[in-house]
Amino acid sequence: MKCLCCQHDFIPNWELSNMWTSQNICNPCKMKFVKSGGCVDCGKPGIDLCQDCRRWQNLGLPLHTRTMYLYNEEAKAFMHRYKFLGDTVLIRMFTDELKKVKMRRGWIVPIPLSRDRLSERKFNQAEEIARRMNGKVTLALKRDEGTPQSRKSREERLKRSNPFHVTKEVAGKNILLVDDVYTTGITLRQAMVRLKEAGASEISAVTLFRSI
Ligand SMILES: [Zn+2]
Ligand SMILES: [Zn+2]
Repeated sequence: MKCLCCQHDFIPNWELSNMWTSQNICNPCKMKFVKSGGCVDCGKPGIDLCQDCRRWQNLGLPLHTRTMYLYNEEAKAFMHRYKFLGDTVLIRMFTDELKKVKMRRGWIVPIPLSRDRLSERKFNQAEEIARRMNGKVTLALKRDEGTPQSRKSREERLKRSNPFHVTKEVAGKNILLVDDVYTTGITLRQAMVRLKEAGASEISAVTLFRSI
């Protein structure tokens, strides 16, 4: 079997405990992805509630975000191949973990790309991640055109007006937002603010990676 991550052949380890997992990544590669953990709201390592999340709480914008892995060098290389080279097969490496995310009574809502971005990249990485989770994926948000956020500083992003609007009836709905990488948490909170304004009930989030 070929490892999705390093492309080398490996012999899957068919033990009873992992019989039901897809086994498409070799063990050495698996070890390179480190689970996040620490801050209860964002998974930042080494602290129960990080300063950033404390600040968000003080602003009345807490958002419980389950971040799955740390955004280390391996994760960055993965994201580069996945996002910029359009290698969507790669996301299968994380299918088993993503399947464990369940949303029974509510919607899984991926953070959208703008129309320009989407036509340039051909796929929305957050949506691909969301579709591997257990629950109903609903595209309930749209994003206005504008400079991609990764090119803006944090201050610029904070001041900037909210690029999202809600396109579905979300009143009373529980929502699980999905994005690829949690960096400042601003994007997810901008989406959360719009959904709250539209009457959504409980909102939480999941991202594949937590930047470090
Ligand atoms: Zn490998
Ligand atoms: Zn935090």
